[in-house]
Amino acid sequence: MKKIHTDICPVCGNTELVPHLSCKDYLTTRESFDIYRCKACGFALTQDFPAEDEIDPYYEAPEYISHSDTRQGIINILYHWARKIALKSKSKTVNRYATKKTGMLLDIGAGTGYFLNRMKEQKWIVTGIEKSESARKFAKRKFDIDCQSSDYLYKVCEKTKDVITMWHVLEHMEHPNRVMEHLFSLLKDDGTAIIALPNKDSFDAVHYREYWAAYDVPRHLWHFSPSCFELLAKKLHFELIDVKPMYFDTFYISMLSEKNKGTFLASIAGLAKGAVFFLLTLGNRKRSSSLVYILKKKQ
Ligand SMILES: [Zn+2]
Repeated sequence: MKKIHTDICPVCGNTELVPHLSCKDYLTTRESFDIYRCKACGFALTQDFPAEDEIDPYYEAPEYISHSDTRQGIINILYHWARKIALKSKSKTVNRYATKKTGMLLDIGAGTGYFLNRMKEQKWIVTGIEKSESARKFAKRKFDIDCQSSDYLYKVCEKTKDVITMWHVLEHMEHPNRVMEHLFSLLKDDGTAIIALPNKDSFDAVHYREYWAAYDVPRHLWHFSPSCFELLAKKLHFELIDVKPMYFDTFYISMLSEKNKGTFLASIAGLAKGAVFFLLTLGNRKRSSSLVYILKKKQ
């Protein structure tokens, strides 16, 4: 299998990458993958991850929830309830930070199209890019939204987008620098990029260590902290406008992490601990399980 080995930190360019944790793929294969950390900036990455053209089998789990619309089990039920509230919060974020009230919105990693549909209802002209064919078909069937396959990203005309969103997508992409640079070129001069990422410095990440569900190896290739992401964004000429927590992820990730640990009544234990982490993040928002970064072009 072709694996991608990283010798140079993609954020700061330092070459001192040291072993940090060994994590298991709890979703599909139970294979172990090492997470390395950059000694200079603290950024972490999944070492020797499967190359883009070989990673698909690692996404083939019946319970891969991002593309599922089934309602089985407490985690799934809560997930779907939380998704409703999350959708509301995502559209609120767009409307709050976008320069215009409506315009051209590109969602990369559109999944089954729920978010795009909501934005379409609010008169945004939406385009979605989604790698999974079954998710694209779902979006077409349910919302009559045509999502494009991945290669479309490099066919979008420059300076045409008012808003580009990536909800938990960048951590899956093999070339984060190239993607971010490309986003910059696609945005209008007053455009806004909204990027959600798991936070490896969150209270739950520090607590669960190798069991932390948002390491999600080998699907998550890159593990950002707020300072690492800010460094990357600034290097690529973005200005960081704001950072917002996604509170629900704290509960969801804690439940999954307890499941990874093999805890009895994992969902309940996860909910209880999630509540503690949630309360802690009220005093320190940058240590939330997931964060949304709002970026604009540096003028
Ligand atoms: Zn670094």
